[in-house]
Amino acid sequence: MHDPDVFRAMHVARFHAEPAIFAAPGRVNLIGEHTDYAEGFVMPVAIDFATLAGISPRSDGKIVLYSENYGEERSFEAAALPAKAGQRWTDYPLGVVSILAGEGHAIPGFSLSLWGDVPLGSGLSSSASVEVATALAVTRLIGVSYPGPVLARLCQRAENEFVEANCGIMDQFISANGAKDHALLLDCRDLSFKLAPIPPNVALVIANTMVKHSIAGGDYATRRAESEAACAIINSHRGGVPFLRDATLEDLEKWGHEMAPNSLKRARHVISENLRTVAASEALLKGDMAEVGRLMAEAHKSYSQDFEGSCEEADAMVALAQDLPGLIGARLTGGGFGGCTINLVEQDQAAAFVEALGSRYAAQTGIVPQIHICHASGGARRLR
Ligand code: ADP
Ligand code: MG
Repeated sequence: MHDPDVFRAMHVARFHAEPAIFAAPGRVNLIGEHTDYAEGFVMPVAIDFATLAGISPRSDGKIVLYSENYGEERSFEAAALPAKAGQRWTDYPLGVVSILAGEGHAIPGFSLSLWGDVPLGSGLSSSASVEVATALAVTRLIGVSYPGPVLARLCQRAENEFVEANCGIMDQFISANGAKDHALLLDCRDLSFKLAPIPPNVALVIANTMVKHSIAGGDYATRRAESEAACAIINSHRGGVPFLRDATLEDLEKWGHEMAPNSLKRARHVISENLRTVAASEALLKGDMAEVGRLMAEAHKSYSQDFEGSCEEADAMVALAQDLPGLIGARLTGGGFGGCTINLVEQDQAAAFVEALGSRYAAQTGIVPQIHICHASGGARRLR
């Protein structure tokens, strides 16, 4: 995370006012892929990359936003906020302000500085970290306080309704509610959650394949429709299965023959992934890291073979990690068809692991990957 003292000095030099400073982390999903819209389980971890937000009041009725990452300052009238997104970075903080205004809060003028080290657009959720840091800053300024889960929902709405990006609640939820040295098992049905410890000597090595494929013949929407079609068939037989969260592997044995082959495979991924995600949280609670690693390997196989959500590069990144010293478990994380893998690695082997994985991947694919060593960190908080 960037140095809060440097950040404070930056805000003071620009706006001539003392800021209140907040930090909100990015995240990585340890296990639980494409289970969220099936009302199932995900288990993200907050990481030690974060966005800082500094806020100070203004008396001229303006909302002035500055991002150090973009080196850009933009000004708006608090009394006449834009109703629509402008297709730029300011949409994320403005979306939060707009949702808070919609909740009936009067929004005064303020200066807001942002500075993050969450890599932008790499799947580590810099957007949620901006939203949550902004939401903490603005709510503090106007003297209201929301519980973390409620704050997360407001930030998700900012991204869905203002930015018009169709994301689930996971990113904002973990950014707002993460806990140091813990993963968070989130039930996407009712947003109840349980923390599960990650040993402090385990590093989260996040390896960016540097590819993002838009695949021929379908994408996220197709996969989702295929898995929902399987769910509808199960529901037509025994009822009470509005989502695959409610289905079992036995259901697939009974009625799988009525499903299109792809529907059956997608459903098998979602149903088994829910089981693995809950099992992984239990293994973490027992400190059984070998079991966590085994579940991650199974999860990757299911994601790649049944969900067909991986790609050559991500499969390579996972395969090339397998025999490296210190590896506990590796899998593709995120929406699929590229993006990052998450590797749980013994901390004292992490630097050598990164070296070796990077050179193996470059040699095999011709692509130089970005690989980050992260740790399970705390959720959003006030720094000063
Ligand atoms: P991800 O969330 O995976 O990093 P997104 O495309 O969802 O990728 O969000 C990235 C966007 O979030 C950036 O393009 C930018 O608009 C905004 N953003 C992230 N970090 C910052 C920052 N420090 N300052 C300003 N805008 C940011
Ligand atoms: Mg995002």
